[in-house]
Amino acid sequence: MRAEILSIGDELITGQRLDTNSAWLSARLLELGIRAAFHTTVGDDLDSNVDAFRLAMERADVVVATGGLGPTADDLTRDALAAACDTELDVDRESLDRITALFARRGRPMPERNRVQALVPRGARPIPNPNGTAPGIELSRDRAGRTPVWLFALPGVPAEMIEMWHASVAPRLQSEFPRPRVWKHHVVKCFGAGESELEARLPDLIRRGRRPEVGITVSQATISLRIQAEGTDEGECDALIAETRAAIDACLGTLVFGTGDDELQHAVACLLQERRYSLAVHESGTQGRIASWFAEAGAPSVWRGAIVEPDSPGEADPGRPDAESERVIERARRCRDAFGADIGLAVGPWPANRSSSDGARIVFAVAARDGAFSQTASVAGHPDLVRTRAAKQALNGLRLWLLRETTSTRG
Ligand code: AMP
Ligand code: MG
Repeated sequence: MRAEILSIGDELITGQRLDTNSAWLSARLLELGIRAAFHTTVGDDLDSNVDAFRLAMERADVVVATGGLGPTADDLTRDALAAACDTELDVDRESLDRITALFARRGRPMPERNRVQALVPRGARPIPNPNGTAPGIELSRDRAGRTPVWLFALPGVPAEMIEMWHASVAPRLQSEFPRPRVWKHHVVKCFGAGESELEARLPDLIRRGRRPEVGITVSQATISLRIQAEGTDEGECDALIAETRAAIDACLGTLVFGTGDDELQHAVACLLQERRYSLAVHESGTQGRIASWFAEAGAPSVWRGAIVEPDSPGEADPGRPDAESERVIERARRCRDAFGADIGLAVGPWPANRSSSDGARIVFAVAARDGAFSQTASVAGHPDLVRTRAAKQALNGLRLWLLRETTSTRG
């Protein structure tokens, strides 16, 4: 069983407004065990709407449309639905009474245009809208040799759509599809390898059609492996997820740093907390990224503060890497002491005259009470991303050091 979500509106198709309804509806459908197979967006044009409705009712078993139910000339959902179902529009008396009463309560005369909001395609039912004039539309249509298709048209206004979903659509779907499949997600976060390298280390796991399916996405050098399990109940999904998760951990080891919404700073904050270490950071070239991540992570027990320097190119001396490394270690020590922290992390400075497509090398250093080390991070890519990558590499260097610390002192 699969669903299609249809978003209607010129403002969506022209990029003036972000279609948030589709994402919300997809997540709600999944909670009911129904997976969206298509998101379609169409403008306020009758022919495109008719085509889109016909196609959706053919290829999906549940169709949820939003938008185009208003009273103005560009609101075409009713007409398009009637045309797609080869039927007429009828006045729904109850809806008309409700719209008339609403205007009466607001002490305003009802514009003639609002009458159209009481029209529903023959055989369809209105979905009450407690907060607006536009009722939604619900219909089911028989299909030769197949199960009927269910269609719900809701207003585009997110608040109205959400309320009507909970009050009418979700209960209807639950009663029509009482034993749906259950879907669960688990996201594994990784850092420290490229997308294709990571994929190569996961033989067979990323294969399409695998059960459960594993998808891979990258955002700012952080890789998310998304396990999507389908089963008859949550327990079956959990078991499938646990098995795949174990396989991922076995293949990737310390490349895995967290789950769900975790970022590197959360993983580092956690390790610091376990060790009862506090951290101070000196940033030059990463523009305060690490500091702002820690400030947002809400880890007051481990976070002491940061020194953020503007770019000072020319300071790095490619001819004398040892001197450069010493200088960064010294900064890590100084900021550790200035903030009274257990560990200092220093990054930068940003190398002079390097174009990011050639790749830039940036030194970072960790200074603990009983030792210090420095490493060189190599970053390449789009100029908007390289500094974030450099900051993440430094943070990851600290994470790996903390992991080794933990194992060596415990072991
Ligand atoms: P409509 O129901 O088409 O009259 O849309 C009413 C309001 O809801 C407008 O402000 C739209 O921009 C907004 N809206 C319509 N569709 C969406 C959508 N898919 N996501 C977010 N907002 C939307
Ligand atoms: Mg509209």
